[in-house]
Formats: sequence, C-alpha cells, structure tokens
Amino acid sequence: MSMKLLLFDLDGTLVSTGGAGVRALDRAFLSLQRLARASEGVPFAGRTDPSIIKDIFRLKLRREIDPKESQDIENHYLAALAAELTVPDGYRVLDGVEPLLSVLAAREDVFLALGTGNLEAGARLKLERAGLNKYFSTGGFGSDAEDRPEVLRRGVRRAEEKTHRRFKPRQVVVIGDTVHDVSAGKAIGAVTVAVGAGHASEADLRAAKPDLYLSSFQDPEAFLKIL
Ligand SMILES: [Mg+2]
Repeated sequence: MSMKLLLFDLDGTLVSTGGAGVRALDRAFLSLQRLARASEGVPFAGRTDPSIIKDIFRLKLRREIDPKESQDIENHYLAALAAELTVPDGYRVLDGVEPLLSVLAAREDVFLALGTGNLEAGARLKLERAGLNKYFSTGGFGSDAEDRPEVLRRGVRRAEEKTHRRFKPRQVVVIGDTVHDVSAGKAIGAVTVAVGAGHASEADLRAAKPDLYLSSFQDPEAFLKIL
C-alpha cells in the first residue's frame, strides 16, 4: 500500500498561541540584550525561529549574532514560552483541526509529521497545551535548519526513518497558512495545501498557487480530496 506523508505547519495552521511566541521572544531579548519590543517590525509568519532571531540582531542590534548568544536566546525563549502558554486567554486550536487529525491518524495510508519553523522544543510546548503532540511523532523543525525547504527535507527524512519507507516528492503533502509554506513545499516537489486560517489573505495564498486552497479545516472531506 502506498502512503502519503503529511507535513503540517504549526502556528496559524494547527493552533494560534495568541502571541505567546512573540511575547516569549521579546522577554528573551529584553533579559539578555536589554532590547525592548525586539520583535516589533520583524516578520514572523512562515519563518524559522533561528532566522527571526538572526534578523532581530541585524535589524535592531546592528550586528551578527554569535552561536553562544543564539543558544542563550533560544534557551531563554523556551523558558519564557512555557510561562506565556499558561496565560489563559488567546490560545486556541484552529477550527476543524482536531476532527481532521483524528480522521487522518486512523488511516493507514497516511503518516503525520510536523514541518514548522519552530524550534522542536517550542513546537512541543505549543502543541502540549492542546494535547496534540500525540499526532506527531516526528517532523522537521526550525532547530534543524534556518531554511524552510531544508526544514521540510529533514521532516521527510525522519518520517522515512520512522516508517522504513521512501516517500517520492508527490507523496509528500505540505500544509501551511503562509506563502512560505507553499513555496517551501514546491521547492521540495511536494503537493501543497494552503489554509486560510492564519494571517495571510486568500488572494495572496491563491497567488502562490497551492495545489489546494482551503479557508479552514472545518470540512475534512475537502482536505481528504488531496489524498
Ligand atoms: Mg504558520
């Protein structure tokens, strides 16, 4: 039986953290670099955490980051994120996500994994709050690479190790809420699904020419067509 590998983006696709990630990163920069509102004016959506952190150094501190500083920011960010995720308001699982994941998890012709710019530890914290980690045994993460297509390639390789299978490019489906998810998916030759649940407009997402555009996951049948 052939199998499809589904690589899900996290923020704006599965959950919205109500800004917990941004607040946590701001706290890390304030504590370690005495920089207030570090994330202001820095694009986040569809990008990897390491590239966002590097950009804040370039744009706000006017210099390159060194590896030790990068590690310190990441550690502080993760501790702050765990705290920010306990804030009751703002966090939510996006519409239709849980029913869709439970349908997909029950299928033997589908393997679920993550393809996210989050550091793996950050992704696990964000999913933990809603009990969604059980659906994703592995994935590609911002902690693997700064470059989004490379994040996806790592996700494919880990899924191949777990399943003892090889996935051809068109057996991989990349699902996300930004044009970066679509372009990274195309860069690895995957089928792409754009979901308009996040911040990007329908027009922008459609202009990126995903194989499927959905306004949300509320209709699981519409998603299942791509399989
Ligand atoms: Mg996203």
